Amino acid sequence: MIDLHTHTIWSDGILVPAEMVQQARARGLRGLALTDHVDESNIEPVVAALVRFCQGLKGLSGLTVIPGFEITHVPPAQIARLVKRGRELGAKIAVMHGETVVEPVPQGTNRAAILAGVDILAHPGLITEAEVKLAAKRGVALEISARKGHSLANGHVARLAKKFGAALVLDTDAHAPEDLISPDFALTVVKAAGLSPADFRRMQAASRKLLEKSRPGSR
Ligand SMILES: [Zn+2]
Ligand SMILES: [Zn+2]
Repeated sequence: MIDLHTHTIWSDGILVPAEMVQQARARGLRGLALTDHVDESNIEPVVAALVRFCQGLKGLSGLTVIPGFEITHVPPAQIARLVKRGRELGAKIAVMHGETVVEPVPQGTNRAAILAGVDILAHPGLITEAEVKLAAKRGVALEISARKGHSLANGHVARLAKKFGAALVLDTDAHAPEDLISPDFALTVVKAAGLSPADFRRMQAASRKLLEKSRPGSR
């Protein structure tokens, strides 16, 4: 099981990165991305801290851990520059806090994030057909979320992703240890979104590809 969307005390999670990694290892996870919330005010210290942490951990943790960030609630016009800045700072994965149905995320965020080339558009809510087509074309993965609230739109996201061939990933968006999930429950979340065990295998393969891809600088 690979989970590419989690939070630590570097934003609003409750664990230091070391404990988040240990909690993930204890649950048998193979790969983890630390993706704290960022905007213009904190992208530098947050990404620098997570990069430093992951470098120090190399070979010691028993699972692959990569540093990332989740751009959150910024004006869509700032997204492209923040993606570029985060990658320049050494982040290996760029996540966008998409237009979830349970928060007033600025309209236009989904489209701007796809055009900016994020790796994962998290909880994209009632994403449009045109945006899903664009995500498929640009190779941006759409997220099926195990998190309460965000998960309300999973069925919609799954249906359009299947229709237009966009990649899907499953993430927990964990902010605390109890938010992490077992592979069994992950499969339940996937099935509840109307997807199959074969889809789940494809989703985990897409996550593995993102985990293993080293992508220095901007693409
Ligand atoms: Zn988010
Ligand atoms: Zn998040």
